[in-house]
Amino acid sequence: MSEPDAVPEPAPAPPAAPSVVVAVDGTSGSGKSSTCRGVAQRLGLRYLDTGAQFRAVTWWMLEHGIDVHDAAAVAAHADRPVIVSGTDPGSPTITVDDVDVAGPIRGDAVTAAVSPVSTVPQVRARLLELQRAIIGTGGIVVEGRDIGSVVWPHAQVKVYLTADPAARAARRAAEVGAADLGATEASLRERDRIDSGRATAPLRRPDGAVELDTTHLSLDQAIEQVVGWVRDARALM
Ligand code: C5P
Repeated sequence: MSEPDAVPEPAPAPPAAPSVVVAVDGTSGSGKSSTCRGVAQRLGLRYLDTGAQFRAVTWWMLEHGIDVHDAAAVAAHADRPVIVSGTDPGSPTITVDDVDVAGPIRGDAVTAAVSPVSTVPQVRARLLELQRAIIGTGGIVVEGRDIGSVVWPHAQVKVYLTADPAARAARRAAEVGAADLGATEASLRERDRIDSGRATAPLRRPDGAVELDTTHLSLDQAIEQVVGWVRDARALM
C-alpha cells in the first residue's frame, strides 16, 4: 500500500500590496483640500489635512493666552494640545483636547497666527510624529507644505499644486465668505512669504514632485489628473 499523500503545504499568502501615499503640497488657496478630498473619495483612500493640525495647535495657543509671536513661549507649550484628526475624506474631523475645532480654526484670528506658530521647530516636531503615525502603512492622501519634502519623502505620488495669486484669493474668499478680495490676497501672500522663508521645513516644490497649475482647471479636472497619476503609480507598485 502506498503512503497517503502528504497534505500539501498551503500556498504562501501573496505579499500584501503596498498601500499608496499621495503627498500633495502647495501654497494657500491652490485647491489642495478640495482636490485631495476628491481624490481620496474616488480611490477609497484616507485623507489627512496637516494644515488643520497646525491651525488646531494655533487655536490652542490663542485659547491659552500664549503670545503666538513669542517662539520660546510657543515652543514651551508645543507638547500640550492633544490633537486628534479623523481621516474620512467625506467628513474629516479635528479635535483639540476633545473639543471640536473644525469651525474655529478657519476664523481670522487663527488664520493670522498660524504661520508664525508653524515656524516653531518644536511644533513641527510634535506634529511630524503625529502625521507619520497617522500615515502608518499608507492608503492615504496627505496635504500640507512639507509632506513630499520632510514628512513622507518616499511617497509614491508627489504633487505640487500652484495657481496664480488672484485665482487663489478668489477661491479662498468664496470658501470663507470674505468680501474683500484684496485683503484676502494680501493675507495669502503673507502666509506664503512666512511659509517659504522659515528655516525648518519651508514650503518648496519637493524633489520628484509633479507640478499641477490649477489656475485654469475645474475641480473635477484637477481631481481627474491626480487620480490618473495615482493609478499610474499603483500599476508600478
Ligand atoms: O493648509 P492651510 O492653509 O490650512 O495651512 C495653514 C498653515 O499651516 C499654513 O499657512 C502653514 O503656515 C502651516 N502648515 C505648515 N505645514 C504643513 C501644513 C500647514 O507649516 N504641512
